[in-house]
Amino acid sequence: MIPHFVIKNPMNKTRATGKVFADEVTPEVLADVCLRITGQTDFTYEYVGNDYEDEFVPKSYNRGRTAVMLYQGTAAYVSFSERQIGGRNSSVQSVPTAFNRFQMNPYPQKRLYYYFLSAAGAATAYQMFIYRLMRTVGFAFLNDQETIGTTIQPFISAEDLMSGRKLNTGKNQSNNPTYLTKGSDGAVEVYGKTFGANKYETSLLCCALSVLCRASGTEARLYQVAEGDLAVLPAASQEVIRRMGRVQLIRTDMKLERAQFEKGGSLRSPRYMLNLFSKFGDKRCALCGCQVPELIQGAHVWPVSAIKKEPALTQEKRLAYALDGENGLWLCQNHHTLFDMKLIGIDDSGQVQIRPDLDPSSQAYIQEITTCWALPSKWLTGRFLWYLRQRNGTV
Ligand SMILES: [Zn+2]
Repeated sequence: MIPHFVIKNPMNKTRATGKVFADEVTPEVLADVCLRITGQTDFTYEYVGNDYEDEFVPKSYNRGRTAVMLYQGTAAYVSFSERQIGGRNSSVQSVPTAFNRFQMNPYPQKRLYYYFLSAAGAATAYQMFIYRLMRTVGFAFLNDQETIGTTIQPFISAEDLMSGRKLNTGKNQSNNPTYLTKGSDGAVEVYGKTFGANKYETSLLCCALSVLCRASGTEARLYQVAEGDLAVLPAASQEVIRRMGRVQLIRTDMKLERAQFEKGGSLRSPRYMLNLFSKFGDKRCALCGCQVPELIQGAHVWPVSAIKKEPALTQEKRLAYALDGENGLWLCQNHHTLFDMKLIGIDDSGQVQIRPDLDPSSQAYIQEITTCWALPSKWLTGRFLWYLRQRNGTV
């Protein structure tokens, strides 16, 4: 049997655009793919319509920009880039779909490939990050060397992935849709929006974390912060992540946040954390610059315990204050405790002060570990200062 391709011809927007998959993935492209995978030049192919289905191809339009090639009992899923590798998200939209289709098929002898349809030149840092995620979850790139000029390497650990992403997101970290960090127990944590264009990146990220956490015997958590109905990753992505294991999917919405708030105890709210990430970027102690994520916590300026005791507030208002990213700072465990115990304070203008009656050796220690004595003015918004005054009782 010579290699045989089955390619769904209709695409998502074929009815509107008139364009079919054969316009891009031509028999010449298939010949190159076949040669690279099998070393053979002889092959057969068929372009099929929406109604066609078999063990590898579902009854729908071409999901995931994929062709399936059968050869010697092996099913090769080949996902194709766009002709024009475009902006931040368009180049990856089809990838999780292709991956999900591949993962969900119980057929034992299968391989996953990616083929660049254009020699787009050097990839952007963002695209390289996505390609490395793809390599990590098992995509083999058929023509990366020729088209983007490099052999794409997988991430070797969750830490490697985290620093790769940090390099990629650069300085503007407070505009990210998703944040990658570690919890105090050392688990990798992903906070973020899991709808709209962000879902493609987030699902790929979680699949890569699953692979890396399995290798290192660790765990990861995805906090899905819900907004209305567009709340969580698509069902197919959630199913695949669950099957791959190691990544716990945690969903939070306002109803759950309210229940948690009313139940009492310390408020470890994913939404509050996400709001702090949105304001401050990655975890970094405001008073000493410590960036060890396991040591950094979200610290309320106006404490939740005080908010709860405020008689004039509705429960709704209290919850809003407790979740507000303006009502907080990133602090390391030491500074968080010092702040909570009021051994250090922050005055109404953002100056850090040590309680004057502390014994000299404690004062000296706090002097030693504190490097920032005035909060940056960009953090001192009207709302932040208002919370400070509530804390300081200077309203
Ligand atoms: Zn600190």
